Order: sequence, then structure tokens, then C-alpha cells
Amino acid sequence: MDKEFNINPVDVPAIHTPYRVIKTALPVPGSVEMLESLRRHEPKSMSGQPPIIWDRAEGFSVYDPYGNKWIDFSSGVLVANAGHAAPRVREAVAAAAAKGTLYSYCFPNAARAQLVERLASLAPDPLNRVFLLTTGSEAVENAIKVARMYGRTQDENKYAIVSYERGFHGRTLGSQMAGGIPELKEWVGGRVEGFYQVPFPDGFRTEDTTFDSFEASLAGQGVEPANVAAVIMETYQGGGASFAPVPYIEKLRAWCTKHGVLLVFDEVQAGFGRTGTFWGFEHYGVTPDLICCGKGIGSSLPISATIGPDYVMDLAEPGSMTSTHAAHALCCAAAVANVDTILDEAMVANSKVLGDHLHERLNALMAKHPEVIGAVHGKGLMAGVHFVKSGTKEPDSDLAFRVTEQCMYRGVMLFAPVGFGSATIKICPPLMIDRFALDEGLDAFADAVSASVCGS
Ligand code: PMP
Repeated sequence: MDKEFNINPVDVPAIHTPYRVIKTALPVPGSVEMLESLRRHEPKSMSGQPPIIWDRAEGFSVYDPYGNKWIDFSSGVLVANAGHAAPRVREAVAAAAAKGTLYSYCFPNAARAQLVERLASLAPDPLNRVFLLTTGSEAVENAIKVARMYGRTQDENKYAIVSYERGFHGRTLGSQMAGGIPELKEWVGGRVEGFYQVPFPDGFRTEDTTFDSFEASLAGQGVEPANVAAVIMETYQGGGASFAPVPYIEKLRAWCTKHGVLLVFDEVQAGFGRTGTFWGFEHYGVTPDLICCGKGIGSSLPISATIGPDYVMDLAEPGSMTSTHAAHALCCAAAVANVDTILDEAMVANSKVLGDHLHERLNALMAKHPEVIGAVHGKGLMAGVHFVKSGTKEPDSDLAFRVTEQCMYRGVMLFAPVGFGSATIKICPPLMIDRFALDEGLDAFADAVSASVCGS
């Protein structure tokens, strides 16, 4: 996210439908003072999203305090899977707060017991231990930690972590080292030993999707399979919503098993129904050794988890693998209500059915604009629209940025473009969106693409 949105108000056409209301200039003139104050008091890095003041969000709607309303295609940042402020989540949080169950450190509490039981039963066997944390980065850090602890039980040199080019796993030191975007790691200043990236077989930026590329890349970097503790992969690459081919993953699973390497799926984005299955890795038909969860696990409050088998997760002694806000009581209450909502209200099925429709429509849009839309990736209610410079594969960040801004003017909320060259627009509404709202939002998106291409 290397651009700042303009905060000078622009007059835009009024919109009034049941799903979208735009009745002011944007950003709203009355909000500019607050936006400027934020820019004065926060690091620049916090100004990367459309300059709309979120006053409240419910379901798939986002409201500002000035009477405007957007269809949300962002879920915040793939968090609000059950919908913003889902009624049961709200009630659970309100009840816990009213009762005084706000915080209990690692002293047991009931919501935590319910949540780990739910998650252990949803995870495949033998992944039966759930360690609750706060952020996705922490869940990844923890996976790296326990994988290395497990590696050391076999051989003291078994600590290499293999991950993927263009991957993203968070911004803390370990998770950033596992990431595959060199610019984001410059701050580390020098190489941290034991992290290696291999090509991600997305079939677009990396044309070779065979598993040979994995083995060749490791050999080229001088990495012995015996020294690898874990391979960590985003189930789909968040930057482009790109999945790997199933045969590749089957071979990767077999390779990990053969060499005593833990296969870690980072499900921070992909889990909790986002891709039309409860876990994203179900699309590959394999079972990982560790799962990292975040974002949609709570649909709201900050909570994350590392899930794995007892022989890995129990390597740390009591009290030696904890965090001040691990299994935070209020966040656990939100997460239990969230998981129940997703399951009871058939949101995984909705993600599949409406996701198929979303992809059909986006593929039709790509057929209409083949020069500037290079690819549409993803599954379920997760799509990445890759914008390219006319007729090439070169990312067109300016165009993607203009489309995002045009969507904001048209009552559709997107977060800023991400991925390779910051040129991919992600469409990822809450999983409870209905077909009418999805279609209305997609009509506006198509209109925004046409307007942005014309203006280029
Ligand atoms: N892994 C993946 C796949 C992610 O998408 C993200 C966040 N975008 C993270 C890890 C890091 O999560 P957090 O921002 O909660 O630390």
C-alpha cells in the first residue's frame, strides 16, 4: 500500500438504493479535519485506506456519520466473515462485558474452554491442541517456534523454514522473514539465517506450476530436506487470491511426510468459510500439520490461534508458551458466537454459491477488459482482480487505485490494492451478503472499471 488517498472533497453523483447511499461530496467536507488530525498524529503507514470515517458497520453495510452507506466488499480486511457486528457476536460481547468477564490472563475461563473445544473439533485429526493468541502474525510466529522445537527433537540442524515468494504472513520479525516480499524485509537489515523462499505456483506470475520448481529451488539455495523444520504456505496467496494446483500440494504433502517436515497452512485469511469450504485447505484434499488462524476467527475482536497435534504443541512446558492477551476472555466470547453464527447460518454454503456467481461475473468482466485485467483468482467469496498495463503482465497499480477510489464514490467499499506491484483488487464481502447486494456492488465495480479505464 504505497499510496495515500486524496482527502480533498470531490463532488460525486448522488446514489440512493436500499444498499447504497451517497449524498455528500467525498471525502465528506466535515470529516476532513478529523482525517487531517489522523495524518498529523499517526505514522503515514496508517493512511493507506479510503478516507471514509467508519461510524458503524452492520452485516455487509458500512455507514459514516453523515448519512452515507456503502456495500462492503472488504470485510474490514477479511475479518467480518459472519458480517459486521453479527447479532450473536454483539450479544456475547455485551453479556461478557456486563458480567465483568473482560480479562483473565491464562487463568481458565468458560469462553476459552468452549472455543478451544469447538476449534479442536473443527480441525482435522490429529490436530487437537489449540493455542489462542491475539494477531495473525503471532499465530505464525508460534507455528515457526513450535515447528523449530519439533525439528530439534529430531536433529539440532533441523530448523530451516521454507515459505513462498510473494507470500505474506505478518509484520513481526519471524513472520516477516517467512514472507516473500523483499521490500517489506529491508528494515530487518541483513539476512536472518534459516528462512528460504521458493516460487509460488500461481500459474500467472509463476508459470511453472510443477513440484519440480520446489525441489530445484531448495537445491539451488543449498537447502537439505533433512534440515527443514517446516514449510509454511498461505492456503491461497493473499496478495493475489491465488491457489496452488492440487497435484503440487499433494506432492508437497508427500515430500513433507517423507522428510519429517511439518506442513503449515496459514489460514489467517482462508479459514472460517472464506473460500466456500470451512478451511481453505479442504480444496487441496490434504491435511496440514499446523494451522494458523486469525481474522475471520472472531469476525471482530483481535484473536488468533495456532492449531496442531499434541506431539508438537505440547513441547513447551506449562507457563513457557503464553502471552498476556492469549485467549482473551472477551475475544473468546466473540469468537465462539462467531463460529456458531457461521455454522448455524450456513455461511460456508453461501460463500460457495455466491462465490461461484462472483467468479462468473468477474471472469465476464475480464473478457470485457482483457487488456487491463490480467487474471481473476480465488474461490468462494474471495476474488483477486489483477490489473495490468495494457496488454502486458506488468502490474498497473495506478489503475487499481483509481478503480478503488471510483468504487468508494459509487458506494462500494474496497480496501486499497494489494499484492504484486499493489495492483490487485480483492473482493471479499462478509459471507452473509445476499445475491442482490452482491450484484449491485458488482455492477458498480464494473462501472468503476470502465470509468477508470476511460480516464487512463
Ligand atoms: N497471515 C496472513 C495470510 C495474512 O493475510 C495476515 C494479515 N493480512 C497475517 C498473517 C498477519 O495477521 P495480523 O495482521 O493479524 O498480524
